[in-house]
Amino acid sequence: MMNKQMKPESLMMSHAYDAHEHQGAVKCPVYQTSTFAFNSCEEGKAFFELAYGLRDKREGEEMGMIYSRLNHPNMDILEKRLALWDEAEAGAFFSSGMAAISTTILSFVKPGEVLLFSSPVYGGTDHFIHHVLPQFNIGVVSFVKGEKEDVIIERVEKNYPGRRPSMVYVETPGNPTNSIIDIEMVARIARYFSSEEKKCVFAVDNTFLGPVFQHPLQFGADLVVYSATKFIGGHSDVVAGAITGSANLVGQVKVMRTFFGSQLDPNSSWLLQRSLETIKIRMEAQAKSALVVANFLKDHPMVDKVHFLGMLDADSEMQQIFNKQCLSAGSMIAFDIAGGEKEAFMFLDNLKLFKLAVSLGSTESLAEHPATMTHVDVSAEDREKLGISPSLVRLSIGLEDPQDLIEQIANALEVVKRANSSAIC
Ligand SMILES: *Cc1c(COP(=O)(O)O)cnc(C)c1O
Repeated sequence: MMNKQMKPESLMMSHAYDAHEHQGAVKCPVYQTSTFAFNSCEEGKAFFELAYGLRDKREGEEMGMIYSRLNHPNMDILEKRLALWDEAEAGAFFSSGMAAISTTILSFVKPGEVLLFSSPVYGGTDHFIHHVLPQFNIGVVSFVKGEKEDVIIERVEKNYPGRRPSMVYVETPGNPTNSIIDIEMVARIARYFSSEEKKCVFAVDNTFLGPVFQHPLQFGADLVVYSATKFIGGHSDVVAGAITGSANLVGQVKVMRTFFGSQLDPNSSWLLQRSLETIKIRMEAQAKSALVVANFLKDHPMVDKVHFLGMLDADSEMQQIFNKQCLSAGSMIAFDIAGGEKEAFMFLDNLKLFKLAVSLGSTESLAEHPATMTHVDVSAEDREKLGISPSLVRLSIGLEDPQDLIEQIANALEVVKRANSSAIC
């Protein structure tokens, strides 16, 4: 019970692990084993009943290790530690963010049913929803930031008369422009579509701000989804995914994970245990630097517009939603360079210290061009609607000194400026 009052960062080095049960090892060893010996047949029987969801846990009963596709110590500890950040009953880890997303969606949306989702979403999620789900005869309806509850509900009822979506899937803040969606409002929509017999499950992709700066469960979401490749891993050296939520819903997804085989391996789980120990100081330091960088960009003559959550219009609806559900602006910045693709490419090709790479949330700063890279699969029409223009550049701010980052940005912008003025002459 003592644990309950402590902050998650105080528990990341110890929660769910007793060194004395592991030869005194202060850090949990990597359990590189595929299978686990039972003490007796009765024990094996009980573990399987729980793993397959055949009965509820008895008072005080703990599930033991069976086989590493179902569970293993490194993943088990990691799941319990991630759950602390979201104040969730349970967590589950996967071999990638896309494995978490596809396993979760297919746990709750069956052939003939409907998924409601926010746009834009991560490119892989977008492809899965538009090109994979229809192969399973699953209907999809989308909405964008700023749309009102009744408009969204009406659209679903018009497109799929008499049917209720089995799931609502939201990504906020959205990639790459940091658009945000009111989680409480979407929770009301999910409740509206829920019935006694069937709950409409509401999941939020919390990759951009979580698990430190946003807690969707507190605003009515049922599940939180992560690409753990990003801030949770934080070092660009692991691909992984995760979810958190109630023991019941996470348990249902874990059963599906067992049969998709989309669990996380012991080595990657071990690396993420290490990463969770520093997630708070990393995310806080990155967010602090991002604000410095965004302020520099805002006043630069070669920059048309900065898309950063720390710079929303003071009296806008977005600012109100931000104040309600976000604890920080995070460290993702997008900006429109003066010009188009040519200027954006020239800037990126001349930018030092930043790596020209997709992905985000790592110790090193990364820069990319959404319109031709991460979001190239989005239709031109949607790209325009969502503000993913040829002039848009996306930055993920890492742990370098912010003044060093600014100097490199200033240098690269200067190259673009000089090229433009000599072209005019
Ligand atoms: C990267 C990302 C994903 C996909 O995660 P992978 O680990 O690459 O499979 C999903 N959602 C968001 C918001 C992401 O940034």
